[in-house]
Amino acid sequence: MIFEEVIALDKRDPLYPKRFEFELPENTIYLDGNSLGALPKSVKNRMAEVVSQQWGNDLIKSWNQHDWIDLPTSVGEKIARLIGADAGQVICCDSISINLFKLLCSALKLNSKRTKVLSTQDNFPTDLYMVQGLRDLLGADLCHLEMVEEQNIEQSLTESVAVLLLTQVNFRTGKLLDMERLTKLAHEKGILVIWDLAHSAGALPVELDKCNADFAVGCGYKYLNGGPGSPAFLYVAKRHLEVVKQPLSGWMGHAKPFDFDPTYQSASSINQFQCGTPSVLAMSALDAALDVWQGVDMQEVRRKSMALARLCLKLIEQKEHLNGLQLCSPELDKHRGSQLAFRHEYGFAICQALIENGVIADFRAPNILRFGFTPLYTSYEDVWKAIEILSDIIESKAYMEPRFSVSLKVT
Ligand SMILES: *Cc1c(COP(=O)(O)O)cnc(C)c1O
Repeated sequence: MIFEEVIALDKRDPLYPKRFEFELPENTIYLDGNSLGALPKSVKNRMAEVVSQQWGNDLIKSWNQHDWIDLPTSVGEKIARLIGADAGQVICCDSISINLFKLLCSALKLNSKRTKVLSTQDNFPTDLYMVQGLRDLLGADLCHLEMVEEQNIEQSLTESVAVLLLTQVNFRTGKLLDMERLTKLAHEKGILVIWDLAHSAGALPVELDKCNADFAVGCGYKYLNGGPGSPAFLYVAKRHLEVVKQPLSGWMGHAKPFDFDPTYQSASSINQFQCGTPSVLAMSALDAALDVWQGVDMQEVRRKSMALARLCLKLIEQKEHLNGLQLCSPELDKHRGSQLAFRHEYGFAICQALIENGVIADFRAPNILRFGFTPLYTSYEDVWKAIEILSDIIESKAYMEPRFSVSLKVT
């Protein structure tokens, strides 16, 4: 593979122009959009407008005049299109952790003869922590967590399980689980399924309705580019909406919040999953960020994501110095999300050296180096340059310099 061939790939790429809808700093190759998405230009303009005009000038009238009150549902609908959900099932609110609490309680209540939540050992820890917190609140006789290895999920789907809680794309390895198959197998045993889409929404086509999913949560600040701490979203299948009940019964989930009735009566729509007042500034940013998806075909996103990863693997294979990187993502494209993970004894120091040299990747304990590919703004040329720099760092052993081993609060 030579540089000219790589440039030709960018020339042929129908998504290439999307890159110009983002603010991308010069001399930076950003391979960490799976942790914090880049800034869409539309967000900058929108934030200025929301702060100066809507808040600054129109003040409280904006709740009606600028539809602030409907942001959770209107943003939810924009996300719905990306995750294969029909209208009325997705709402934007809170964080994934909080939304998991609501959904775990809802699902356990729907399946109240059972008490076990099944998840994977290497699920994203907050997902597991939320179950552990709920277990401590309710007592282990009403809720308990069983964690299994990813390869043992299917055999662990028994009639004692109430809820299966899975992240579709593993945050460390990028392994992609088969949503349709696992949901079907779980349903055959009377198990409800909660899917965490943190690394799938905006990264690959997701078909919640088609897979007959029960519940899902996902992230606003990763592939959806809503900005740091952007609100998350949740999905509840229509068939559950009438009967489901979530415990964080704040006024925004009330059927008529502005009646100020002392008795809680939940909305029957997806609105019941709101709790308190939405964060209008943050949600406006996400709303504007979602406009970059207009006209984007998720199949095209998937094709490019796979091609970027394949190129990365090929370039690494061609470099002798890079054979100390041990791939811990699945070998086959179709079994991966939109990232590649490699083990290396000096993973942390290499990552720090990459960042100093303008390649932003990230590190996950204990020794994993992650490269995220965000097809809307990662180019084939980016991948080429990143691997050239990585190769130089490893060949020269530049990462051995002590400053690259200083630990950081956030990795
Ligand atoms: C990023 C991520 C989260 C984040 O949860 P928040 O509560 O929104 O901070 C949760 N789950 C997974 C799988 C993630 O990757």
